[in-house]
Amino acid sequence: AGLGVSGISAARALAGLGAHVTVVDGGDGERQRAAAAELEGWAAREVAEGSVTVRLGDGVTLPEGTGLVVTSPGWKPDSPLFTAAAAAGVDVVGDVEIAWRLRGPDAADWLAVTGTNGKTTTVRMLAAILEAAGLRTTVAGNIGTPIIDLVLGQDSEHYDVLAVELSSYQLHWAPSVRAHSGAVLNLAPDHLDWHGSMAAYAADKGRIYEGNTVACVYNVADRATEDLVREADVEEGCRAIGFTLGTPGPSQVGVVDGILVDRAFVENRRQQAQELAEVGDVTPPAPHNIANALAAAALARAYGVRPAAVREGLRAFQPDAHRIQHVADVAGVAYVDDSKATNTHAAEASLASYEHLVWIAGGLAKGAAFDELVRSAAGRLRGAVLIGADRALIREALARHAPDVPVVDLGRTDTGAMSEAVREAAALAEPGDTVLLAPACASMDMFVNYNKRGDAFADAVRELSASGR
Ligand code: ADP
Repeated sequence: AGLGVSGISAARALAGLGAHVTVVDGGDGERQRAAAAELEGWAAREVAEGSVTVRLGDGVTLPEGTGLVVTSPGWKPDSPLFTAAAAAGVDVVGDVEIAWRLRGPDAADWLAVTGTNGKTTTVRMLAAILEAAGLRTTVAGNIGTPIIDLVLGQDSEHYDVLAVELSSYQLHWAPSVRAHSGAVLNLAPDHLDWHGSMAAYAADKGRIYEGNTVACVYNVADRATEDLVREADVEEGCRAIGFTLGTPGPSQVGVVDGILVDRAFVENRRQQAQELAEVGDVTPPAPHNIANALAAAALARAYGVRPAAVREGLRAFQPDAHRIQHVADVAGVAYVDDSKATNTHAAEASLASYEHLVWIAGGLAKGAAFDELVRSAAGRLRGAVLIGADRALIREALARHAPDVPVVDLGRTDTGAMSEAVREAAALAEPGDTVLLAPACASMDMFVNYNKRGDAFADAVRELSASGR
C-alpha cells in the first residue's frame, strides 16, 4: 500500500524473493505514473520468478488472493484496505516488520530509539558512539537507506549493530520486532489524528520495549515512558535504565557537576559511577539535547561500549540541518531555523532556549492544542508571525495566554509567505533578539517537507540581509 520510498523498496525486495506484488496507491498524478512505469519496467527486466503490478487511483481495494499487506506510513490504520484485510484474515505489516522477518541468521543487533522528539538526533549520536567503539554500524529505520534494503544486504555491507529509529507508525505495524535494547525518549501528543488517541499512540511507542534482552531505557522526567517499561514483556534479566538531567540513582545515567555519568553499567564494583563525557562535549549543549546524549550513551553502554568511546562519539557528532540551526545575524538579530519542530513538544524545547524572541509558527496542527506551549513561552515573546493552514489555533491560544504580544497573522498558505513572514518578524525584533522558526506544526500544507520549509526560511533571511535592513 503506497508507492512511496518504503513501498517501492518493499515491492522490489519481495518481488526479488519471488512474490507476486500488487502496489496500490490512491493517487494517479504524474509522480505516481512515472514511479509506476519505472517500477514495472524494473520488474519486467530484473525479476525472474516474482512480479510487480501497480494499480493507481481512487477506490483502492484488496486484490483477490492477497496473502500479506505491506503498508506505508501515510496510510491510517482505519483505511478501508486494512479493514478489508482484517475481514479476510490477511496480515498487515510495515517495512520494519518485513526487514525483521527477512534478516539473516547472523544479522546485526538492533538498538532501537523512539519518542515524540529527538529520535533522529539520538540515533545519530548513538551511531557516532558505536563507530568510535570500532563497531560496524549505520543508522536505519525512519532514516537513511530503507531498512529492507539494509537487511537484505543490498548495500553490500555487513553490520554488527544498527542504530534504528522507529516512528510510532512503524512500531504499530511491527509486531514481532525484538531489539537488543530500546529507548523511549519522551511522550507528548503528536500524530493523534493517525493513532486515534494518546493511549493508542503511547501503546504503539511502548512496543519498542517488547522482547528487549538487555535494557529498556526510559526518561526519568517523563513518567509515561517508565510506565511503558513496566507494561512491556521483556526477556529475563533485561533491566530498566533511566536517564536524567539530575544526579542519577542506581540503574540510571545522569549529570553530576557538568559530567555525564553512568551508574547503571559500572564495571568496577568498588566504583559508584563511571564518568562518560562532559556536557560541553554535546552539540548544542541545550538541556533537551543532553537528554538525547544520555539516552544514546545508555543504549551504547547496554551494548558494552567503553566510556572513552562514548565521549569520542559524542564529540564527533554534528546535528542535522533544520534543527535549531543558526542561519545568520542581521542587524543584531539572530535568525534560527528549527523547521524540524513539527509539534508543540519540540517547539516548547526550542522556544525555552531563548530569552527574547519573535516566533514564526503555523502549518498543519495534526490535532494538537497550543495552550501549554504558548503559556510556557508567553513571557519571552516579543511577537509572533503566523502562517499556514491551522494558524487560527495558535492565534487563539496567543489571545488567551499572551494577550499583550503583538501577533501578525499573514493569512497565507502559499510558499512565498515565508519571505513576508521573515520581513514581518524583522520589523518586530529588537537588537539582541532571536527570530525563531519553530512552527509547532507539520509543513505539508505549504511545503513538500520540513527541509523545504527551512530552506525557504534561510532564503528569506538572505534576502533580508541583502536588502540591507
Ligand atoms: P525526531 O526524529 O524525533 O523528529 P529530531 O532529532 O529530528 O527528532 O528533532 C526534532 C525536533 O525536536 C527538533 O526541532 C529539536 O529541536 C527538538 N528536540 C530534539 N530533541 C528533543 C527532546 N529530547 N525533547 C524535546 N524536543 C527535542
